[in-house]
Amino acid sequence: MTDFIPLCEPEIRGHEWKYVKECLDTGWVSSVGAYVDRFEQEVAATVQCQHAVATSSGTAALHIALLVAGVLPDEEVLISNLTFIAPANAVRYVGAWPVFVDSESDYWQLDPSKLADFLELQCRFEAGRVVNKISGRRIAALLPVHILGHPVDMKAIVDIGQRYELPVIEDASEALGASCGQEPVGHLGDIACFSFNGNKIITTGGGGMIVTDNSDWATRSKYLTTQAKDDPIEFIHSDVGYNYRLSNVQAAIGCAQLEKLQEYTGCKRAIAERYTRELLDLPGLSFNSQADWAESTFWLYTVLIDEGKFGLSSRRLLKILAVQNIQSRPLWQPLHLSEPYKGMLSTSCEISEKLYAQALCLPCSIGLSKESQDRVIEAIWTAYYEGKAK
Ligand SMILES: *Cc1c(COP(=O)(O)O)cnc(C)c1O
Repeated sequence: MTDFIPLCEPEIRGHEWKYVKECLDTGWVSSVGAYVDRFEQEVAATVQCQHAVATSSGTAALHIALLVAGVLPDEEVLISNLTFIAPANAVRYVGAWPVFVDSESDYWQLDPSKLADFLELQCRFEAGRVVNKISGRRIAALLPVHILGHPVDMKAIVDIGQRYELPVIEDASEALGASCGQEPVGHLGDIACFSFNGNKIITTGGGGMIVTDNSDWATRSKYLTTQAKDDPIEFIHSDVGYNYRLSNVQAAIGCAQLEKLQEYTGCKRAIAERYTRELLDLPGLSFNSQADWAESTFWLYTVLIDEGKFGLSSRRLLKILAVQNIQSRPLWQPLHLSEPYKGMLSTSCEISEKLYAQALCLPCSIGLSKESQDRVIEAIWTAYYEGKAK
């Protein structure tokens, strides 16, 4: 039996052991410590933001970002339809409602023109508020999700945000290290969230970060993530807070991982370039390419399979690869079709539905060997020829 090739596994090859040992040796293992401060400062510097607040997960970061951006119960947040479900869940945690916006077909990110049309045609303006004509609810924020390591067209999104006076919350969980023009992802909207879950480009085991230039929002984020403590000595709280802290041990891993960010995005890009080169000639296969205004990190390398031309569906290819011990995954079910969110308001979503049907994410761990890449490439070519022969 050949070795299992996982989709995307963490890479530990820096100072993780050293920094974690230091936490254990000094007893600074819990929710405060020098590594938490350092990790916050270094992530802020990496994405050129003034402030960063570490959190226990990317989902927790999104929850707090929505709160500090002023999203209230029974308001609405315009959000990418094709994404991991976490940001939609975070919208529900604050009691607000997601409205789903389709992807564009070039880079598969939130479509700014559908977003603009929705605001223009489906909303009205009263007393400085944007109100959804169908639901009667106030639109409170925009939540674009940079999927698969490629940025959303943020120039267009920020323009729309300014025009309608809506805060822009970036879900940058999958795109640390990416940029739009000269601007790093995370510094494009008003506030942004990162995840350091095990499958992300760098990991702390589990964790997240809020970044922003808004010092009030940063202070409030720190307050809410640390149980809304009002006094350093007395147990006095004037708000419902959360325990969303990142531990010093996790932050120590994060500091070691962050030192490798450039190297790791370089590995991801090289894997993507190789796959694209080697699979380019296959009929019916296309790729998540990079816009000329963007720098993608190719976090999760994904192909689209046109069954009519390739001869096999994406799900059929998934099974063929699985038999050969190669893990691949489809993209996420578009949220307007998902059980908790079906029937909720959305734009037309034919692009995300097509992407969902056709997409397959291929193994692309940072440490994926050339031999493993060869196995994946050969397995796909063989599947194509065998499909043809039938
Ligand atoms: C991973 C991810 C999250 C959630 O991050 P956790 O740290 O697992 O809570 C949120 N949004 C997107 C787009 C993600 O990919």
